[in-house]
This record gives sequence, structure tokens and C-alpha cells, in this order.
Amino acid sequence: MADKKHIADSLEDLGEFGLIKRIKDQIEIKNPSTIKGIGDDAAVLNPAGKHQVITTDLLLEGIHFDLTYCPLKHLGYKAVAVNLSDIYAMNARPKQITVSIGVSGKFTLRAIDELYAGMMLACERYGVDLVGGDTSTSLTGLTISITAIGEADPDRLAYRSGAKVNDIVCVSGDLGGAYMGLQLLEREKRVLQGHNEGRPEFDGYDYILERQLKPEPRADVVDFLEKINVVPTSMMDVSDGLSSEMLHICEQSGVGCRIYEEKVPIDHVTRNMADELSISPIVAALNGGEDYELLFTIDQKDYQKFQSAPGPNIYAIGYITEADKGRRMITTGGDEMDLVAQGWKAFN
Ligand code: ADP
Ligand code: MG
Repeated sequence: MADKKHIADSLEDLGEFGLIKRIKDQIEIKNPSTIKGIGDDAAVLNPAGKHQVITTDLLLEGIHFDLTYCPLKHLGYKAVAVNLSDIYAMNARPKQITVSIGVSGKFTLRAIDELYAGMMLACERYGVDLVGGDTSTSLTGLTISITAIGEADPDRLAYRSGAKVNDIVCVSGDLGGAYMGLQLLEREKRVLQGHNEGRPEFDGYDYILERQLKPEPRADVVDFLEKINVVPTSMMDVSDGLSSEMLHICEQSGVGCRIYEEKVPIDHVTRNMADELSISPIVAALNGGEDYELLFTIDQKDYQKFQSAPGPNIYAIGYITEADKGRRMITTGGDEMDLVAQGWKAFN
């Protein structure tokens, strides 16, 4: 027999306005700069003397995420987390987001609740207010667009364009893990689809699965930089792989660089998975992406400040050179090779 309550609570019965009210009712505004959230024609914000930074991501089912192995709650969390990462990458702090969704008929209300539960969890964790959005039906699966708005003191903003010769290149954590997590999920998906013998095998790989499914933006690094009074000369987050991001910084700053292969942090679980799949770990770190660590450059005189207080591990992986020296990695064997932006291709 059909469950009456379930029918009454279906997405269709609830309708667009019912859904918006359901979302609004879960929200408690946290930030003084949020004057008006959901419920009017537009949100009202008051940044009070700060510079505002704004960033948008568009996520399409089948292109950016695969619902076969990405639970909706994780998807909601990750969608917000990676958007906030772009705000932190400006050395700013996120304060508000808007969320727009296109939902196909195959989605249940429970599925939407799961998606929003994940998004709310990320908002809670990073002190962000969900202040608006838009809702539509979709013919082609799930679409999520998130806009994040952040604030920074004007003199603390970090652009991609400020790296100077002799600056130290730093990264906030290990690389390649999210990519190896994705490779593992793809492999196990093939197993589930019966293209392979055996059962999904995830034991011992929690770390890289977490890196792929539940990335955390490095708010702690932005807090630490403020505490030790350092403004990076340039900064960005690692979403497309170290090579690609390093080339962006060099290009926009008009400089070159040397990165030491042996200094690039790679977790042992990442190495194990790479070995198993016959992929070189450094290739995963250079080209994998989605690690959402912060890549930044600092003036040499600021380097010892990182030891002045307890804080997150920061890895010095190389230095900035004149542009005509090229953008290269020095391999463990002592050879030099050009950094090449393989990244993952948005339009392949
Ligand atoms: P309009 O017709 O002016 O676009 P809507 O009915 O779409 O108004 O939106 C009403 C309010 O609900 C607005 O504050 C809007 O930002 C918010 N809103 C709509 N959809 C969502 C959503 N998916 N998530 C959060 N807020 C939403
Ligand atoms: Mg609308």
C-alpha cells in the first residue's frame, strides 16, 4: 500500500514555494553582515568597510558529479565546500552563499532534503549564511549553482598576480589524494556494473575516499596567516592540479618557478593506490586536482613566522624565479622538466 504521508510530502505536492519555505525554516542567520536572507526579491548585505569577494560554481550531473557513487549529502557538502575554497583562496572569509538548483522529476523530496542537509552542514561548519537562490525543474538531471560571497580587509586580499622573484612557494597539504580517490571509485563502479570480477574493495583507502568525497576548504590556513601576520604575495586553491595552478600564478605574476619533486607532499595511501593502478604518484599530484589545498607564495622574510606559533603544516615546495628561467620541476633524480598543464579538461 502506498504510504500516504510520503505522497503528501512529495516534491510535486510541496511545490516550489513549499520547498523554499522548507529550506528557509532550517536557516538561522549567523553573520552581522547578512541584513536580509531568503524571502524577499533579493538578499541584503552590509560588508561594513570590508572588500567583498564573489565566486560562482556550476555543477552538472554527469559532468561534475556522478550520483552512482556520490551520496547526495556528500554532494551538497562538497558543492558548498569547494565554492568556499575559492573565497579562502583570496585570503578572505566566506559569509553568505546562494544556491540555485534544477531538479528532474526522478528526485524525491528525501533526496533534496539530503542534498540540503549536506549544504547546511558545510554552512554551519564554516559560519556561512544561505541567503537565497532559485529553484526550477530540469529535464536533464540535477544542476547545482552556488555563489559564495566573502569579506576581507582590503590589505589582506591575495591575488594570483603578486608572486615575486625569490618568493617561497608553499602548499597547505598533501596532493593527488582526491584524484586517486576518484580512480578507486571509478574502479569499484565498474565492479558494481559487472564489467569486472569481484566485489568493491575500499578497505584501507578511507583517506583518499574522504579527499574525493568530502574535501574541506582550508579556513584554518587563512586564520593562521592572519595570526602570524603574513599576507601571501599570491595565492590560489588547488582544484586542477599543482602544475596547472602553478602555471596560473607564474603567468599572472610574470615569473618563473622551480618546484622540487621530493618536497611535494603526497600521503602514503595516495602512493599505495597509485602503485596499485600503475600511476606515478607525482603525476597524480601534478595533474590530478580537486585537493582544495591552498598554493601560495610568500616573501622569504616571512618564512620564519610560520614557526612562530603552532598551526597547520605548511610545506615549502620550491621558489619563484625570473620568467625567462621557465616553469620547471626538479625531479628526485636531479633532472629538470617543464611543468605542463594537463589538469582535467573541462571540455573534453
Ligand atoms: P523570484 O520569483 O523573485 O525569483 P523566488 O520565489 O524564486 O523569487 O524566491 C523567493 C525567495 O526564496 C528568494 O529570497 C530566493 O532567494 C529564495 N530561494 C528560491 N529558491 C531557493 C533555493 N533553492 N535555495 C535557497 N533559497 C531559495
Ligand atoms: Mg526565483
